[in-house]
Amino acid sequence: MLLPMEMNNILKIIEKLEKEHSLTVEEYEYLIDGRTEETAEIIAEKARKVREAIYGKSVYIRGLIEISNICKNDCLYCGIRRSNKLCDRYRLSEEEILDCADEGYALGFRTFVMQGGEDGSFSDEFMCSVIRKLKEKYPDCAVTLSIGERSRESYERLFNAGANRFLLRHETADKEHYEKLHPEGMSFETRMECLRNLKEIGFQTGCGFMVGSPFQTTHNLALDLKFVEEFKPQMCGIGPFIPHKDTPFKDYPPGTAELTCYLLSIIRLIHPNILLPSTTALGTILDGGREKGILAGANVVMPNLSPISVRKKYMLYNGKISTGDESAEAVRNLAERMKSIGYEIVNDRGDYKE
Ligand code: SAH
Repeated sequence: MLLPMEMNNILKIIEKLEKEHSLTVEEYEYLIDGRTEETAEIIAEKARKVREAIYGKSVYIRGLIEISNICKNDCLYCGIRRSNKLCDRYRLSEEEILDCADEGYALGFRTFVMQGGEDGSFSDEFMCSVIRKLKEKYPDCAVTLSIGERSRESYERLFNAGANRFLLRHETADKEHYEKLHPEGMSFETRMECLRNLKEIGFQTGCGFMVGSPFQTTHNLALDLKFVEEFKPQMCGIGPFIPHKDTPFKDYPPGTAELTCYLLSIIRLIHPNILLPSTTALGTILDGGREKGILAGANVVMPNLSPISVRKKYMLYNGKISTGDESAEAVRNLAERMKSIGYEIVNDRGDYKE
């Protein structure tokens, strides 16, 4: 319970955010630490209103194709990190990727997201060829990449081959925190530079972070929000951290759906037009989590289109949902879930609206 005066302060901050789309880091901290069920409902309602004014009741779907779990990086939180010797590695061929897209197109997807570990064999040549083939076959579809850090020249080639969007979560906007989540050799500055390059090149760019990652403080989260505010991404992916049993962070507690949804609402108010996914991690940590995310202001979901045979191998964290269902079944299920809360999945590219 908040004292009446604290409640008043929080309401004032929410009003300021609604009007100015900007807060100080201290105000973001206050908003996060002072949250209650009541203030969360107030802010969620405002976020829904803002979202519905721009995107209506539509929920955009993105077909996620997990193209490889081979990764040269060793992020301490991630189940497909290089050092995880128990991870059974795979890499999809060009043909397999195109088959996933065929299935997805028939199911109504008009955006394909190719995501994977930083697999050295995904040369520019290979990626550009897949992108070109996808765009040739499906000129009405958007292609999104989520394949990690690359040189500016490489990003340019991918963009010129026809890729439209790129997701690269910044993971945390605090350098010190970044260094606790990543081994030596991975650099906060490089990741941020990649994001700036992507945006300058012209990709619809997505940043993002985990909620409740180990060592994360309210101050870290406030810096994440400030970064999202200033970077002005077209997309922002956030989901709860969920421990994976074969990583150094196996004994750390997961993040919560509650805080994730609260932050989704704040991000919607910072950038009314942003494409904001209600993530698989949110649906994993809580049954009905993705519905809650939509009700908190999110407007995108990313069902899995990967071949069933590899789904269990792309295990970033434990317990990941829908690793067993046929894609068609999963889409029907999700459509039902969205309908149950008054929203509707649409067969649309779902571009960012200026
Ligand atoms: N290699 C790509 C894709 C990474 S996987 C890249 O570097 O961008 C996509 C996202 O999954 C990561 O950015 C991270 O935020 C999230 N993730 C990884 N491990 C996780 C975990 N244990 N719990 C929740 N999210 C996780």
